[in-house]
Amino acid sequence: MAVRSVAFKKQQPAFENDQQLFDTHPEVRLDFDRVREALKEGYAKPFLLVDTNIVRTKARRFKAAMPRVQPHYAVKANPDPRVLKTLIEEGVGFEIASIAELDLLLGLGVSAAEIYYSNPMKSRAYLEYAAAKGVEWYVLDSVEELRKIVSVKPDAKLYVRIEAPNVGSDWPLAGKFGIKSSEVDGIIAEAAHLDADLAGVTFHVGSQCRNPENWRVGIQHAKRVFRKMRLAGLTPRLLNIGGGYPVRHVKPIPSIERIAEVVNHAIRDIPQNVRVMAEPGRFLVSDAGYFVCRVVGTATRSGKRWMYWDAGVFGGVIETTEGLRYDIITDRTGKPIPWCIAGPTCDSVDVCMRDEMFPEDMQEGDFIYIANAGAYTTAYASNFNGFPLPEVRVI
Ligand SMILES: *Cc1c(COP(=O)(O)O)cnc(C)c1O
Repeated sequence: MAVRSVAFKKQQPAFENDQQLFDTHPEVRLDFDRVREALKEGYAKPFLLVDTNIVRTKARRFKAAMPRVQPHYAVKANPDPRVLKTLIEEGVGFEIASIAELDLLLGLGVSAAEIYYSNPMKSRAYLEYAAAKGVEWYVLDSVEELRKIVSVKPDAKLYVRIEAPNVGSDWPLAGKFGIKSSEVDGIIAEAAHLDADLAGVTFHVGSQCRNPENWRVGIQHAKRVFRKMRLAGLTPRLLNIGGGYPVRHVKPIPSIERIAEVVNHAIRDIPQNVRVMAEPGRFLVSDAGYFVCRVVGTATRSGKRWMYWDAGVFGGVIETTEGLRYDIITDRTGKPIPWCIAGPTCDSVDVCMRDEMFPEDMQEGDFIYIANAGAYTTAYASNFNGFPLPEVRVI
């Protein structure tokens, strides 16, 4: 019998009033019986089982919740072509960071006009390639990047990435990208001076964001930047509210409908000639997949129990190192005790979790089933130390 091995601790509120936001809205999830069925075909190496019907359901739910917001999937979350094809069928657009992602989409017949280049730092060679392939929209968050893009493609349509609050996000991004809205004047002035088509604003509230308020504040800042753009003679035509929509693991989350209430209200006075889009990554693919791996061996070190899996930090199980806590199932029923979980490589950073509760009778050969792991698992995996990449099996 499968047991749920994660200990449920009472969560401290991450921000004011957060308890009111969390409902018990049933989130879709891949049926565990499908995992059992998949294992009947054998097991050679770690795999991600993905149900594209769930990807479809999530895309429809996102669109239904925010009818004015066109989703552009963040390819990095799971670039499997079968996942991408499903999203194409659902009329979802895309957001990319590299030309490999661009080629993947063009190969699947996506029009370059539906692909937004949302990486704030792009090499000149990548810009030249994307421009030649017909990509129209490019993000920037510095005067230097503005000049670089315009020098390659003078008629590029540009959007500026501003900082947004990351309160209550599991992956705060503030600092790496995004200019303060108070510092945006230099970019606007330079765009006007260069006669560049700076036409949009974007922000990213941080991944797995559990605080809808961040979108409200981000949109408010964007409106302020729009006003500054108009004063400088520019014509705002794009509001891109980024990614960050959360999925259910062990912490409570606000539903997409709850986030939509905030977003729909905040965009109600955005003029109709402004295209409103979003860049969901995790939200569209995470619930669709179970990640399955296996215990290579166990050991006791300084009185602590250690378990080594055939997929660790380099094999797809990396978000745990940033604090994400998955719902993990095993076939054992023993008393839960704290375990350290490591990957199969010889690198000392290859430790996924410390003091995580698993049954005390876990053994070599046991299967590990990680729920809602369709995003940021296989996409991160490498061949480091000679271990194989996990496969993606699609149902
Ligand atoms: C990664 C990324 C996203 C997607 O983030 P999620 O948290 O997976 O929704 C969206 N936009 C940009 C620019 C990104 O880098």
